[in-house]
Amino acid sequence: LAQMRNSQQRNLIVRLLENNRTHPTADELYEMARAQEPKISRGTVYRNLNLLSDLGELQRLSVPGGPDHYDSNTNKHYHFFCRKCGRVFDAPIPYHDELNCTPEAMKGFQTESHRLLLIGLCPDCAENEAEDK
Ligand SMILES: [Zn+2]
Ligand SMILES: [Zn+2]
Repeated sequence: LAQMRNSQQRNLIVRLLENNRTHPTADELYEMARAQEPKISRGTVYRNLNLLSDLGELQRLSVPGGPDHYDSNTNKHYHFFCRKCGRVFDAPIPYHDELNCTPEAMKGFQTESHRLLLIGLCPDCAENEAEDK
């Protein structure tokens, strides 16, 4: 029974992420999950997010100076991080597979993946910034 509840809670988290393309943080996902299942605990949401990222069923995105964000899109793609509001957006730049290589000078190293994060202001924040001046 406990296991069944676990998988239901996991499905809820996956469903919430799939229906939400804003790359939410764990706390934001917890709030969304609680709106649908009031008994769900913060620990359950965090535990499932860790498990699902370890399984490769979702992507964990680290950003400078803030909590991790989560993405149900596990295809290789790049992101834009707004340093003001902390939101994460998909950046439609072609993925550069050729960057997954090891420089010749780094003998013995094995590159497995690479990350690219554009950092700056989203349109909303850029507009507010312009108004402040
Ligand atoms: Zn912003
Ligand atoms: Zn994304």
